Amino acid sequence: MTAINERCLELQQPSTPTDKKCSFVPSKENQPLVTSFRDHALATIRDIEELGFLGREIGICPYYASRSAIRPSEIVTLPYPLLLQKSAREVLGISLKGHVLIIDEAHNIMDAISGIHGISVTLAQLKRSRAQLGLYLQKFRNRLMGKNRVYVAQVVRLLDSLAGYLDGKAGPMVCALHFKKIAVLSNKSLAS
Ligand code: SF4
Repeated sequence: MTAINERCLELQQPSTPTDKKCSFVPSKENQPLVTSFRDHALATIRDIEELGFLGREIGICPYYASRSAIRPSEIVTLPYPLLLQKSAREVLGISLKGHVLIIDEAHNIMDAISGIHGISVTLAQLKRSRAQLGLYLQKFRNRLMGKNRVYVAQVVRLLDSLAGYLDGKAGPMVCALHFKKIAVLSNKSLAS
């Protein structure tokens, strides 16, 4: 999927020769096709495959052209990642203000949020970061403002807590840590 997205973006780069660019991307020249796609898309309820066929029939990219149908739609369905990321909503022109939001399978939402805002770090990366911060503090301690010294010290304690946890319980292997867990560990360590 990522490879397809990257290829799609590549085909739209200004540096891509004109004859190699995707000719189905909506532009000023093919605006009537976008309008036709929008009208057909709104005329009846269609699933994602049917929108794909419609785009092929009309000769316009269904992915981009379907954005023109969002504003006049009364009901828009979309996957969690598009709903939960502000930047994705902005690109699609979707505003949550004044709208009713219905979340299906809501028990999955915490995992979805944690998946979007989660990162993976290794114990080695934590240790390297800790060592670098130590050097930074050594060098700039006297030049840092009080509150910045406190912030750096908090990050140091957080890294120490995480590294200690991984060292003691998970061993030197790659562990997926999510912000939620980091926050919990951080609070524990700061409170102790
Ligand atoms: S048809 Fe649409 S999704 Fe496919 S490459 Fe062109 S712009 Fe990208």
